[in-house]
Amino acid sequence: TIPIAGVKGTTTERTFIAVKPDGVQRGLVGEVISRFERRGYKLVGLKLLVPSKALVEQHYGDLKGRPFFNGLVDYMSNGKAPVVGMVWQGKDVIRQGRKLLGATNPLDSEPGTLRADFCTAVGRNCFHGSDSHEAATSEISLWFGEKAVFDWKQALEPWIASDN
Ligand code: GDP
Ligand code: MG
Repeated sequence: TIPIAGVKGTTTERTFIAVKPDGVQRGLVGEVISRFERRGYKLVGLKLLVPSKALVEQHYGDLKGRPFFNGLVDYMSNGKAPVVGMVWQGKDVIRQGRKLLGATNPLDSEPGTLRADFCTAVGRNCFHGSDSHEAATSEISLWFGEKAVFDWKQALEPWIASDN
């Protein structure tokens, strides 16, 4: 069986993408799904949830101690809107997913990226994407777990994905 984040560099590579509460409030869930689908990526995990503080603190563990950390955790977990978590699969999906989202600060994001098209504040940048295969592994484990990720054969796959 393949590892939870797939095998990096192959068509099984997986990443964790989330629409944060501001993105859900803004009505951007469909926009995100559309852009990843149209690129040819395969949706293998999807859930709507209000994450606990503990989950968000673990997810953003590397940012603990930053001045915005407590505000970030509250905004993600206070339940004013849920988060939509997704797992996407396909070739180079970790790096390409970050490109589709755009730079962390929307004011530095390239036009045409999700953050440039819909956001202006780093503290309300609407979306998350894993930044490495290691991060994808821990984030998919944390938000989904093995059993909530679905491997399914896409009929179009031979027309989209090729390992050579
Ligand atoms: P990402 O991987 O592009 O999401 O960026 P980081 O991992 O560096 O930061 C995680 C998240 O923390 C960002 O998406 C923002 O929501 C938030 N964040 C990062 N830097 C800042 C900041 O300077 N101010 C505020 N308010 N939030 C920040
Ligand atoms: Mg990050």
